[in-house]
Amino acid sequence: MTAQTVQQGDLVTVIGLEVHVQLETDTKIFCGCSTEQSDEPNENVCPVCLGLPGALPVLNEAAVEAAVKIGKAIDAEIPEETRFHRKNYYYPDLPKNFQITQYDEPICADGDLEISVEGERRSVTIERAHLEEDPGSLQHVGGGGGIDSADYTLVDYNRAGTPLMEIVTAPDFRSPGEVRAFLAELEEVLEYLGVFDAERDGSLRIDANLSIIPEEEIESDDVTEIGPEALAAANRTEVKNISSHKGAEKALAYEETRQKNAIQRGRAVEQETRHWDESRGITVSMRSKEEEKDYRYFEEADLPPLRVSGWKDEISIPELPAARRERFEDEYGLSDEAASKLTSTKQVADFYENVAGEFDPDLAATWVADNLLGELNYRDMEITDIEGRLEEVTRLVELVSEGEITAKNARETVLRSMLDDGKAPDEIVEEEGLGKTGEDEVQQAVVEAVEENPDAVDDYESGDEGAINFLVGQVMQKTGGSADPGDVNQLLRAELES
Ligand code: ZN
Ligand code: MN
Repeated sequence: MTAQTVQQGDLVTVIGLEVHVQLETDTKIFCGCSTEQSDEPNENVCPVCLGLPGALPVLNEAAVEAAVKIGKAIDAEIPEETRFHRKNYYYPDLPKNFQITQYDEPICADGDLEISVEGERRSVTIERAHLEEDPGSLQHVGGGGGIDSADYTLVDYNRAGTPLMEIVTAPDFRSPGEVRAFLAELEEVLEYLGVFDAERDGSLRIDANLSIIPEEEIESDDVTEIGPEALAAANRTEVKNISSHKGAEKALAYEETRQKNAIQRGRAVEQETRHWDESRGITVSMRSKEEEKDYRYFEEADLPPLRVSGWKDEISIPELPAARRERFEDEYGLSDEAASKLTSTKQVADFYENVAGEFDPDLAATWVADNLLGELNYRDMEITDIEGRLEEVTRLVELVSEGEITAKNARETVLRSMLDDGKAPDEIVEEEGLGKTGEDEVQQAVVEAVEENPDAVDDYESGDEGAINFLVGQVMQKTGGSADPGDVNQLLRAELES
């Protein structure tokens, strides 16, 4: 890059991603060891995932199924046949000194995912997505505790062999915010497919390439189309150790500013790998980046080529969040915002459709999107935490819909007590005396109030309007506050005029 001073506005940020997604399978990708996360290190291991001599890998069908689902969701090409390779490098978390991965024949190629950026839909190209095995994990102990400052490091192979899907995008992002939107959408899609658990520690790990290109070097009028020459000319950094979509936005905003400052001061941006230090909020230089040729890829002879052509038709995927959002807007007349909230997870969307099927869709939207998700969020809970109690929530909506209790009581007393004390709605209504009092009972209370308060009746008859409020208060007291004050007012007037 030329060391000349350019204006901030003339610089275009270009970001591409490699996202490693842990696939949710019971066992590892090439052996029968459990993928369960364990506090006991080196518990879920065997000769295969420890890389002992002579041990042979056997491909896990469930991992391939998950990969095909992802391929269908991102509208990728799934070839007739796919193949595994060895990626050779030495690192203590990699017991075989090579990683079984895919190289020139990945299971998915040329897909895309739509994201919403400032209200506009935009497509992000996914160049490829391939299956591979996760390495083990390292624990840096003592000293500064960091990768470069610990006294010593422990190795845990529980994670080694967990199936991963590596999803590689084109350099299609122009801001850290777009990256965040993409990762959030991707997470939603993966959760809908049931192949991914966002709650699991380290289930999403992101490497991001970021470079800054002067606008005049872009060959196309369209700023989102950057010519390969301009890309090749720019030095880029690869930022590693990002583990969430919020973290990605922060790390890339830092890196964007760092590179722009360097360019504006006439300094060169080094081509290198940098480590995102989440606690310090900065990226630090790690090493110069290996090139592809350093890995000496060659075919994994212990795994035959895998024919996947038949799988594409046999494996089905559910309606995905974007399609469901659109349908919710059309079918139930929901706003963009409500539809987004109600499709945020498959469980929420399924529950909403259930409730909307029984009651008014608007009432259902208020109850699921605002009341239920609001109260859950406040308690740091997910809808999956009350999976077995959704019928109780439906019953609560029914009580409101039928006018048995007021919406206010339902929301502020019953729902909160359901979540905090684990009680059923009818039980709470009974205990708290929230049920709307029957008409006969209200009429009875009106008659009593009139009989017991002759002075107030006299005042009313001599034209004192304030006296009616006193009598309404008396009736409300007798009915425990469950009568409607407007109704009581009318009933009282009718009683006094008779
Ligand atoms: Zn194993
Ligand atoms: Mn990888």
